[in-house]
Amino acid sequence: MVEPKLYKETLERLKALGFPFELPLEVTHYIGGEFVQGENPFPVIYPATGEVIGSAPEGRAKEVDLAVEAAHRAFQSWGKMPPSERRPYLRRFAEKIREYRPVFEVLESLDVGRPIRENRLGYVDRMANNIEFFADFAVTHGSEAYPMENGYINYVLRFPVGVAALITPWNMPSMLATWKIGPTLAFGNTAVLKPAEFTPLGAWLLARCAHEAGLPPGVFNVVHGFGPDSAGELLTKHPLVRLISFTGETTTGRIILKNAADTLKRTSMELGGKAANLIFASADLDRAVEVTVRAAFFNQGEVCLAGSRLLVERPVYEPFVEKLVAAARALRIGDPLDPETQMGALIAEEHLEKVMGYVEHAKRVATVLTGGKRPDLPHPLDKGYFLEPTVVVDVAPSDKVCQEEIFGPMVAVLPFDTEEEAIALANNTPYGLNAIVQTRDVGQAVRVSAALEVGTVWVNDWFVRDLRVPFGGAKQSGIGREGGHYGYEFYYETKNVCIANR
Ligand code: NAD
Repeated sequence: MVEPKLYKETLERLKALGFPFELPLEVTHYIGGEFVQGENPFPVIYPATGEVIGSAPEGRAKEVDLAVEAAHRAFQSWGKMPPSERRPYLRRFAEKIREYRPVFEVLESLDVGRPIRENRLGYVDRMANNIEFFADFAVTHGSEAYPMENGYINYVLRFPVGVAALITPWNMPSMLATWKIGPTLAFGNTAVLKPAEFTPLGAWLLARCAHEAGLPPGVFNVVHGFGPDSAGELLTKHPLVRLISFTGETTTGRIILKNAADTLKRTSMELGGKAANLIFASADLDRAVEVTVRAAFFNQGEVCLAGSRLLVERPVYEPFVEKLVAAARALRIGDPLDPETQMGALIAEEHLEKVMGYVEHAKRVATVLTGGKRPDLPHPLDKGYFLEPTVVVDVAPSDKVCQEEIFGPMVAVLPFDTEEEAIALANNTPYGLNAIVQTRDVGQAVRVSAALEVGTVWVNDWFVRDLRVPFGGAKQSGIGREGGHYGYEFYYETKNVCIANR
């Protein structure tokens, strides 16, 4: 049993920050405007120590039915409100998120094991902006009209879809939830959020924010639980759910698509990734290393967009790898709640084991230059799911280390000789979420970006997000786009009205 000191200190800290629930952390559902105790509790674990820090209820048919029915009832009025009347509710929701900023920062670290310093790099602002942006967008976005040569006029009307199931992963739980909540509610749908079972804390506080912002009961609901045979699957099959916005693994996306087919639901799939990070000889090498370290090890590498395949042009391969290894070794691993910590713990023991499986494989077929083991940390962190940042070289592009999503702090580095070879290597995976291109040659940036089979290319940076542009994956990384009018189309039905001139 782990010494509960760290946890006790954290609870004290949460209390001092104005945590709005009774302690200890006994997570509740939020259904029809009420916090519902729930049944079938499962443990909430702090990844940095393995401590059980609370419990969450598993929603089953009863809770899913209640939540969907509450959302369906609320839709009858929320869906008919003009966007300008919905906007003040959503703005208050966003304000509440900002009000609870320090609490969210701690909860995200407790949930995910991510360093609190990363939560302080605009994470909570992004959450609030996700809601505000779409609240404003729904008000300002117009519609098209097409006069025909024969005098008839077509015009396009948009109307909300209905009850949305928002199913989210554990790696950026609160940010990804708000990304879905914003457009869902702004465009007149109502929502049932099913957060990942590893990370129920942020969603619990989000429900509190919605509640305190005065959202009408049933407009936003949260049901906790698991995926298969649990709240997740039940939502995807529920006849009153009209829309599923899912972010998670590609394999889960396939299952959800099949389950949603019987009731023909509208689906958006934001799935896995295996991003290439192309470092050309003309790049500013120090900057390239800085971007690479961030893209590889931010959030312990548990990011769909992580640059996990490094393709480096031969003339700079050696100096780049040397600098990368030094930078990886310099990262401070430790307690996520310590503001000095740069890398935290992986989400769960089984996930650490999965990543270690790739490390062991890499030791057999390639060279592990640094990392590949659990760091020595003092008690109680010695029980946490930490892994040193890991750099692998001498690996074949077809190897599973270069093909499969590892979702941990592990990168493979491959040399290349020509631009064509770099593009071919980058496109050589089933995934197509994003890529990074590092070069100071503008023409090269334009050529290479155009040739990459992905949904987003960052040139000389990573993880910069403008909500007006589309976000989503090509190939096995997803179906559909979120953001701006691309996301708007997903969350709305359209109707053409054709008027005769006689
Ligand atoms: P996951 O697919 O295991 O789970 C995601 C969510 O789906 C969880 O809430 C889970 O409970 C639920 N779920 C699982 N099986 C289900 C089923 N049969 N029916 C309904 N719901 C089900 O993913 P994860 O491990 O939580 O997250 C990591 C994955 O998410 C990675 O593959 C990562 O790349 C991906 N991801 C993608 C993006 C993106 O924008 N494309 C962003 C973040 C994470």
